[in-house]
Amino acid sequence: KEKILRLPSWIKFPISKASEFEKIQTLIKKSNIHTICEEARCPNRAECYASGTATFLLGGSICSRSCAFCQVNKGRPSPINIDECTQVAEAVKVLNLKYVVLTSVARDDLPDHGANLFISTIDEIRKIDSTIKIEVLTPDLWGGGKNLDETNNLQTERLKMILEKDPICFNHNLETVERLQKEVRRGANYKKSLSLLEKSKDIAPHIQTKSGIMLGLGETLDEIKNTIYDLKKIDCDQITIGQYLRPSFNHLAVKKYWDPSEFQYLYRFSKELGFKKVSSGPLVRSSYHAG
Ligand code: SF4
Ligand code: SF4
Repeated sequence: KEKILRLPSWIKFPISKASEFEKIQTLIKKSNIHTICEEARCPNRAECYASGTATFLLGGSICSRSCAFCQVNKGRPSPINIDECTQVAEAVKVLNLKYVVLTSVARDDLPDHGANLFISTIDEIRKIDSTIKIEVLTPDLWGGGKNLDETNNLQTERLKMILEKDPICFNHNLETVERLQKEVRRGANYKKSLSLLEKSKDIAPHIQTKSGIMLGLGETLDEIKNTIYDLKKIDCDQITIGQYLRPSFNHLAVKKYWDPSEFQYLYRFSKELGFKKVSSGPLVRSSYHAG
């Protein structure tokens, strides 16, 4: 029988001013766009909205993959909404955001795997205000070739197209340690993800690279440290480390709630290794304090 752990006392969800929160939620719903903040009911919404940050989900709200931890709906992806880029840009303007994170569902069904979704949205946001900082949090852009070499080249081409738009940060999450990749992610894996981050550094060394992992899926401290080492080896600049929280009983169970002092330890460990920016704490998410 599955063991269900109690939520520890240190996981507290900040409460926001209801009126402010509703205003933003209504706007997001009305605009026919999707944000990870809302889809994942992120615990940091109050703080992020107040500080002018949000994470937009491009390519619709249905993902062609089905990672066992993720709250985004899975299934046959919706047809591309060609107005999505302008709708997102309009929402950025109305919400007066200064730092925008763009992410997308995995669109393995599209020839470009969704790369152009990032490009068109960046263009539209810059038309409104070229000083808004834009971080991209992409899927692994892997797949579609007839053989390994061709697939690898396609991934590089898609990545290059996005990097040519000069985002302030290229973010791609490893999500978990190497041993648990298969159980936690679908279609992605540790090596492909590390290689994407490494390619980003090679192609555009001036763009910061960033990756994140969730704790609580059954990993050991040594495995976490090895993952951090692996990110350092490919010269990744920033790292986020947060606690996995189970979105529903249909998702993977939490195996452990890591203690705040353990997150502190991992913060110091990563800082000592030389990462430029480290966010480590139970409620840290990939886009938390991104700006
Ligand atoms: Fe949105 Fe990320 Fe902030 Fe959560 S941490 S509210 S997903 S920007
Ligand atoms: Fe979620 Fe996985 Fe799809 Fe990303 S690829 S949106 S983590 S199901």
